[in-house]
Amino acid sequence: CGIVGVIGKGAAAPLLLDGLSRLAYRGYDSAGIATLVGNTIDRRRAEGKLPNLAESLAQRPLDGTTGIGHTRWATHGAPTITNAHPHGTERVAVVHNGIIENHAALRAELEAEGQVFVTETDTETVAQLVDLHLARGMEPIAAAATAFRRLEGAYALALIFAGHPELMIGAQRGAPLAVGFGDDEMFLGSDALALAPLTRRIAYLTDGDWVVVTRTGAAFYDSLDRPIDREIKLTRLTG
Ligand code: GLU
Repeated sequence: CGIVGVIGKGAAAPLLLDGLSRLAYRGYDSAGIATLVGNTIDRRRAEGKLPNLAESLAQRPLDGTTGIGHTRWATHGAPTITNAHPHGTERVAVVHNGIIENHAALRAELEAEGQVFVTETDTETVAQLVDLHLARGMEPIAAAATAFRRLEGAYALALIFAGHPELMIGAQRGAPLAVGFGDDEMFLGSDALALAPLTRRIAYLTDGDWVVVTRTGAAFYDSLDRPIDREIKLTRLTG
């Protein structure tokens, strides 16, 4: 039910955990974080409240300066650790708010292509779809854009990719997503409040938009994949 993303200068995990705590007011039943450590994606997830995730991180800290975090309000699949986000493969990690309405058809199609699902969630169809494109040689931006065209329903999404330590891709359709502009750091969040300690400079996606976030900025695209400008606004919120 909440999304945070960081391309940071220091450890991403504490920033992600703090951002998630600022989104807790939305309600959730489980939570998780994935970061890029070297060329690989690593993650920690926990059922229940954020102190459980914090405890897991204390026992096995997550390195990495780029990462995504999620608080889940389960709609498809029980609120178990297996179904907690981030979902993904060795190539990609995905967090998602909302519902992928055509998840059953996508799952059947992807399983027929040989993709192996490990959760009961609608969200995993996004991860497996992007993974299939990556496995076939597409670059992350093309893989994500091609996948987004197939999705029906409501979503806010954030993705990170193994081997691409300074890249996040976000998308919004029917669930909110904001981009935060820092000083040589960039952020994603469900709202400005999630990012309030990190930056006041926020650009909001419009439904159908997707965004490529790198350390130095963000490139926005509309639903027809045309480059588009989105205004950076100064929020009044402070940390
Ligand atoms: N539909 C997804 C799930 O059940 C995302 C739920 C949410 O918005 O947190 O995993």
